[in-house]
Formats: sequence, structure tokens, C-alpha cells
Amino acid sequence: MRLTSSSAVLAVVVFSAFLCPSIPAENPLPTASLADRDEAREIFKQLIEINTTDTPKGSVTAASVAMQKRFLDAGFPAEDVHLLGPDPNKQNLVVRMRASGSPTQKPVLFLCHIDVVEALPSDWSTNPFEFVEKDGFFYGRGTQDMKESDAALVATFLRLHREGYKPRRDLILALTADEEGGKFNGAAWLVKQHRDLVDAAFVINPDSGGVELNHGRAVVADVEATEKVYADYQITAINPGGHSSRPRPDNAIYELMAALNKLAAYSFPFELNEVTRTYFKNLAAQETSQTAQDINAILATPPDMAAATRLGAEPSFNSNFRTTCVATRLSGGHANNALPQTAQANVNCRIFPGHSPEEIRQQLISLFADSKLSVKYVSDAGKVSDTAPERKAIVPPAPLKEVFDPLTRLTQAIWPGVPVTPVMENGASDSIYFAQAGIPCYGYSAIALERDDVRAHGQDERLPVDSYWKSLDFFYSFSKALGGE
Ligand SMILES: [Zn+2]
Repeated sequence: MRLTSSSAVLAVVVFSAFLCPSIPAENPLPTASLADRDEAREIFKQLIEINTTDTPKGSVTAASVAMQKRFLDAGFPAEDVHLLGPDPNKQNLVVRMRASGSPTQKPVLFLCHIDVVEALPSDWSTNPFEFVEKDGFFYGRGTQDMKESDAALVATFLRLHREGYKPRRDLILALTADEEGGKFNGAAWLVKQHRDLVDAAFVINPDSGGVELNHGRAVVADVEATEKVYADYQITAINPGGHSSRPRPDNAIYELMAALNKLAAYSFPFELNEVTRTYFKNLAAQETSQTAQDINAILATPPDMAAATRLGAEPSFNSNFRTTCVATRLSGGHANNALPQTAQANVNCRIFPGHSPEEIRQQLISLFADSKLSVKYVSDAGKVSDTAPERKAIVPPAPLKEVFDPLTRLTQAIWPGVPVTPVMENGASDSIYFAQAGIPCYGYSAIALERDDVRAHGQDERLPVDSYWKSLDFFYSFSKALGGE
């Protein structure tokens, strides 16, 4: 789960809705029956209690097989329930709910990772791999990230099937491996190797976005509509070295420092896209201060760079309107009395959609302007290479109405009046693989969490019981709205 860094800022200033500002109070959504809830709880419990960490104890396949059994037992045809993956321990599950007749629209894909981050029982007050209900919360590793949505969607597909629901377009659910780390990212593998199974008009990825609560009051619902690209670069200075009593004019540490100082002083160019433009527009509409004036000034043509500089003092704004690169690790030298033969830094970049990692590598090379330095790309798996991928995240289109209209309507039926806004995530999720394949992705979980109770990847991860039931109701109605009533 990647909560949007901008949401805290937004929450303070946005009080009205995006796209559908005046939606009247809706009839309450149909709520799950007690039997439906029991089943959804059982699935949630089962998923939490299967360890899916990327460790010798973990098995994503065990979770996929358990869910596969549920779908087959419920009567899904075997040809619509696919267990597959590049590694025996990292099998993904892809389930298709078929449209009746021949659909005219491409499918909708729900993309859900089922792996979790390691949790040490000694750090927790409950066993992280036991599903515990206590004080109005469900505890366990993955209760926030993201087995709650995995379970809610499995339960939703089973319920719709049981009720004889026939969508007008195929609905696909993919439960995937290695989002949190590991060598077999299921989303990347599926879109590359089995595009036919996961091809869709758009992707709903509940791994990001969601409803932010402040003392129980819903303040904002964020929908991740695009995200930046993650890239690491290894910057190395090499020197013959020698005895430190006889310093030479050239020095690996100084050369590396000079390059990093240039980086510290540099800002990548200011940019906006359809998503961030909408986000800033929403923000400005609610602000009355200098911030609003500055936001309007950056939205103007041409954008006012002085205003961008003032706004950029806030890191979440700055990251939202440009590529950023920052030094995150440093090493150098081998002895206190020797000239350094090597000095090395890691530079971590978050690349604005529309640019490739190789393009940014070239920009770093020209910024450093020192041919003695090497600038190499470090892959997620830690492999260092001379060049970086050329592939760029596509520039996002304006958020799709066929997604935002029902999403807003249903969200506001559950949390009346909450503003729904598209955002650009400064981090990265599995959506990037589909975005790069040209499929629009929207990150939304329908999970409501208190701002100060985000425990994904942390200790005593927990989800309010009530939040689970609401997400269950949301996904039921949302699936039907997307699939066609
Ligand atoms: Zn996650």
C-alpha cells in the first residue's frame, strides 16, 4: 500500500467533490448479508493465516491455490481460473467472470498483490500470521496491505457468481506475487507473458488510494490515477589512490562530492499532466491564501516559475510537479591513511511520467559533466548495468469518466460529502507495468483509515472491522457498476 504523500496537504484544503460536486444524497448501498459477511471474513482470515512473505516460510502459491479452490468449488469453469507463474512458489491466480453473449467492451481488471512484507512475531503484540479480532479491529500482517482488498474482491466475485450475475463485459481478478519485493513480480510477468489473460480497458488496483479519516470523519478519498517511475543510479568515482601523506590533485571522494553538490542545487524542469493539473485545480479552488494564488499561477500558460519555486518549498508539491533525484547512500575509501580508490553513491530518482530511466541517466551525466564519473543503472533486483531502460511511463489521459462517476457516487453513498480526487502517486506500485503497457490504472481501495493509523509494513497492522464491511459493500456495487447492471 502506498498512501499518497499529498493527501495530508490536500485534506486540509479540499472540502468539495471532484467531478461530481453536487451529487445528492444517495440511497444507501445494498449491504452484504450476514452470510456474505461470514464468508468474506473466512476468506480474509484464510489469507492472513497463509504466510505469503518472500522468505523460506512464505508461499504465494499456497494462497493462490486456496483461492483457486474456492472459485472451482463455487462453480467457476476451470478454463476461467488460471494458476500460473514463473516460479513454483510464486504462482499467480487469474480469475475471469465472463460476460454473457459477446461483449462490446474490453474487460475490467482488478489487480491485487497477495504477497506481504515480512513480520517478526517478536515485534508484535499478536501473532502476525494469525487473524485476530480485537477491540473493533482485525489484526494480522496484510490487514492494511492488501489482503483486505484481496479478500473483499474474492468474496465479491463469489457472491456475484452465486447470485447469477452476468456482467456485460468480462471482469478479471488477478492475485499476484512479489509486489513487495522478490524476483517474480506477478503483475509484470502476466502483462508481458500472458497479456491475453489480463488485457483490459483499465485496471483497478486497490493497493493505493482510499479514504482518509480524521477522528472518524472522512476528509478525502484519493484515487491514484498515475504514478512516477522509480529508478536507482550508481554514481562511481575511481582513482589510482596512493599514500595519504602525498595527496594528488584528483581525489575520488572530492569528485563524487562535486557531482552530488551539483545534484543538490539542481531542479528538474517543472511539468504538469492531466492528473496533476486536476489535482492542483481542486486544491486552488479551496484555498484563499498565497498558496491558491501560486497554484493558479503555475496552472497558467506559461506557468509562473517564481510561484513554482515558492510552492516547491513543500516537498509533496515539489515531487508532484517534477522528476526528483536525491542521493540516498554513500561509500568510499578503504583505509584512513590511503587515498580513496573508489567513492560511490546511490541516487534515487522518481521520474515524472513521459520520461524514461535512460533519459534521466543521460541528464545526470550532463549535469555532472565529469567524464571520469560513471553513472550506471541499478535494477530492482540490484543488477547494475551501463544503460537504463528506455521505456517510459505513459503520460496519463484525463481520468476516465466511466471509472470516476461510479467510484464517486458509491464512495459518497458510504461517506457522504467526501471529496474524491485523482492524484499522482510519488511512489510506485504494480500499476506501473500496466500503465507502461498502455492500460490506464486507477488505485483505489475503498478502505478508510485514520490518518495516524497507517500501519502497512509496520507492527500490529490492523484494519477497523467496519472499514472491511464498507469496502465489501463498495466493491460489490462498484463491480456491478463497471460490469454493467
Ligand atoms: Zn501493497
